[in-house]
Amino acid sequence: MTATDFLDHLTATLAEIEAAGLYKRERLILSPQGTHVTVGGERLLNLCANNYLGLADDPALIAAAHRALDDHGFGMASVRFICGTQDLHRALERRIAGFLGMDDSILFAACFDANGGLFEPLLGPEDAVVSDALNHASIIDGIRLCKARRYRYANSDMAGLEAQLQAARSDGARFVLIATDGVFSMDGYLARLPEITALAAKYGALTMVDDCHATGFMGPRGCGTPAHHGVRVDILTGTLGKALGGALGGYVAGPQPVIDLLRQRARPYLFSNALPPAIVAAGLAAIDIVEAADDLRERLFGNAAYWRAGLQDAGFDLLPGEHPIVPVMTGEARLAQAMAAELYRRGVFVSGFFFPVVPEGRARIRTQMNARLTREDLDFGLEAFRAAGRAAGVI
Ligand SMILES: *Cc1c(COP(=O)(O)O)cnc(C)c1O
Repeated sequence: MTATDFLDHLTATLAEIEAAGLYKRERLILSPQGTHVTVGGERLLNLCANNYLGLADDPALIAAAHRALDDHGFGMASVRFICGTQDLHRALERRIAGFLGMDDSILFAACFDANGGLFEPLLGPEDAVVSDALNHASIIDGIRLCKARRYRYANSDMAGLEAQLQAARSDGARFVLIATDGVFSMDGYLARLPEITALAAKYGALTMVDDCHATGFMGPRGCGTPAHHGVRVDILTGTLGKALGGALGGYVAGPQPVIDLLRQRARPYLFSNALPPAIVAAGLAAIDIVEAADDLRERLFGNAAYWRAGLQDAGFDLLPGEHPIVPVMTGEARLAQAMAAELYRRGVFVSGFFFPVVPEGRARIRTQMNARLTREDLDFGLEAFRAAGRAAGVI
């Protein structure tokens, strides 16, 4: 087999993806991220960003980033432990920890890296990770990279979780860590943290929650799903790339020895560049806003309730819930694609989700609310959904 055969093989794979209606194409946005975006000269209502609090183009964040560019420069040209740690990095790590009620936190280039680097330094072959089957890809990859024994339970199946905890214990595991998303991002379902933490206590297990789709807007002061449920977990991971400004950056927050050991051993931390100061300074500004943003959170959940009720009245098949992720089910990938294309023509920017990001036959349009959307925006969106749903044969 030659290099040409190899490229032909890849081309054939791409053709299969295309033929199955699963090919993803990127649309080029010419404006800042916001409630509306400009694509090819058209202004579209944007219902698919993780911009829950509308901070992605917030003037206070932009100003904080500008100031940091001026007084801390552009790039770090170093990993953290060599010469890549500024006062700003430690300030943000302490700020995140204080905000989440943890001892300390450690920044990564992304939450994908935080999850990718978390498990391997903490757990060895004597240990066990018990993981929800719908956990984010980065948790799955992070668990694959560690030597602990792996146990899996069906999404939010608490009897399944208990059975796996019993299996881990009867296999003689030293330490057991339960890993779960706080919110399952394709469905908008919340992890059942009260039951999970109770089972953790019963079996002497630790808990790790990835709260990417919750930090900033779920729970009192936006502290996330543990706060929402009134429980404590041992380790939290999260992102600056969603509600907290939407740029990039991830973190792990938890007990001091966990964070200290990750600083010594986490591979994406040791072998990847430090976050740029503008991003870090804007992260600090984002937490300042978020802590006092009860008004934005109220508008976000008000919008979610209004949007959900409007879609329901129109006859769409929704997944139930309270989260600002509102998935509109189409079943077939092609229907999701057709409906997204029709919505685009009607001035609404959404994206079809289908295999492999959701199970086959469970395609959907995942809509997401933003605190800064107005009632007029939502009414415009609902009208477009009704028309596009009828055109595509979804309703
Ligand atoms: C978005 C997301 C991530 C990845 O976060 P990045 O900072 O964009 O890498 C990880 N976990 C979950 C649950 C997410 O939704």
